[in-house]
Amino acid sequence: MRGLRAGAGPGLTAVKQLKRRTEAYLDNAATTRPHAAVVAAVVEAMRGAFGNPSSPHALGLEAERAVKAAREAVAALLGAHPDQVVFTSGGTEAINTALKGIAAAYRREGRHAVTAAAEHPATLAAMRHLEEDGFEVTVLPVDGQGLVDPAAVRAALRPDTLLASFMLVNNEVGSVQPVAGIAAAVREHRQATGRPCFLHVDAVQAVGRLPVSFAQLGADLLSLSGHKFHGPKGVGALVVGEGVRFRPLLAGGGQEGGRRSGTENVPGIVGLGKAAKLAAGWVAAGPSELRALRGRLVAGIRERFPDARLLGPDDERAAPHIASFVFPGLPGEVAVRALGARGVYVSTGSACSTRKPDPSHVLLAMGLAPGEVRSALRFSLSPMTEEREIDTALAVLEPVVAELRALARR
Ligand code: PLP
Repeated sequence: MRGLRAGAGPGLTAVKQLKRRTEAYLDNAATTRPHAAVVAAVVEAMRGAFGNPSSPHALGLEAERAVKAAREAVAALLGAHPDQVVFTSGGTEAINTALKGIAAAYRREGRHAVTAAAEHPATLAAMRHLEEDGFEVTVLPVDGQGLVDPAAVRAALRPDTLLASFMLVNNEVGSVQPVAGIAAAVREHRQATGRPCFLHVDAVQAVGRLPVSFAQLGADLLSLSGHKFHGPKGVGALVVGEGVRFRPLLAGGGQEGGRRSGTENVPGIVGLGKAAKLAAGWVAAGPSELRALRGRLVAGIRERFPDARLLGPDDERAAPHIASFVFPGLPGEVAVRALGARGVYVSTGSACSTRKPDPSHVLLAMGLAPGEVRSALRFSLSPMTEEREIDTALAVLEPVVAELRALARR
């Protein structure tokens, strides 16, 4: 209990110290700091719109109005209709709802699904669940840059393929997947067979960083998560195309048009709506500033560590906010802690895998040797990242990497 005051949680001083020690927050693919306007909107909703949106009285109606406004903001960000937006507890729930929900609703039409080896664990674990439930799942490989080949998707589709699920931006290396090509393959397959076949896109790492249009993507379902674009944690959405049925994951009072039961997380949803509005502004401004910051980071690392290897594409197929490197001989996990102690926050891979001893399945799927995987660091930015943070990270990285490499050689 060191540093904790009994019963009061972490002391204010501890929180302040932690805040002061954040010199460079470059772990935005794990989570982002909620924007001040989001925090204000959440607090306001907790104070003002605390009614149950299902209640017919004035307070209920006010909460319902707040949820409606947030739904419109999320829909506007994605070029979708508000009725297509189903609020969830985050990306993981949206993905599970899409995959398990489609499988349950259409299982008589086909029991084959296609995905890729570098998908997020939420997708891969939900797919394993489908396998246990009698589905056959084809897991396609990715190339050395973490990319899926649309021709391989096309070749994997069978008359009984019901579901395909691919991410738009990979969370560990930032590869932007050729989703348009994958969507075309699924659409043509559907036309050729005359049978249902659905495409789900995990857009969790893309929303708020790149323009994402649900209609233009050609996806049937799309998942997003608030905490990846300066919204609150524990809230996200599944966007569902017209006429796409799915069995809800949660049964109950029939909220969200019967598609996700449970009293709505009004403050979270309001915060997500505010984040969507902010994201619309960032996306409209274009990714050039973010790309320039990423470029500064990549150039700075290459200059200081000529043997460091950038993972994933380094052209327009690279997301503007993620840069992962292998630093040969560097114990990655130790480096993350040493950098954190100096106020520089990065990650070894996805947040979900960093606490596990297993090496990243994404980097292994890209063909890296386990030793290389353990020497990888991921730097991830957001529209709120400042140039100063990049320069601080580079300045701190240089001695830390040198020292840890020397120690590892002993
Ligand atoms: N999909 C991707 C690509 C992610 O990066 C994440 C989060 O790390 C998720 C899904 C899961 O989202 P959530 O944390 O909201 O459950």
